[in-house]
Amino acid sequence: MSNLPPPETIRITSLRVACDGAGVIDAALGHPRVYLHIDDQTGYVDCGYCDRHFVLEGGPADVAPR
Ligand SMILES: [Zn+2]
Repeated sequence: MSNLPPPETIRITSLRVACDGAGVIDAALGHPRVYLHIDDQTGYVDCGYCDRHFVLEGGPADVAPR
């Protein structure tokens, strides 16, 4: 019954992002909304709840597929 998708990588253009888990697993299985801050040295941040991986577009961790 459990068929969890792998964590998503989401490219964003802001250093701040809010994540509540909605849409990652299931809307009913979301988590409390948290605000994440991307470290501009690394260019990414992971959500501690749902493991979503946020990457700053154009940042050090942004590896655009070609
Ligand atoms: Zn999350």
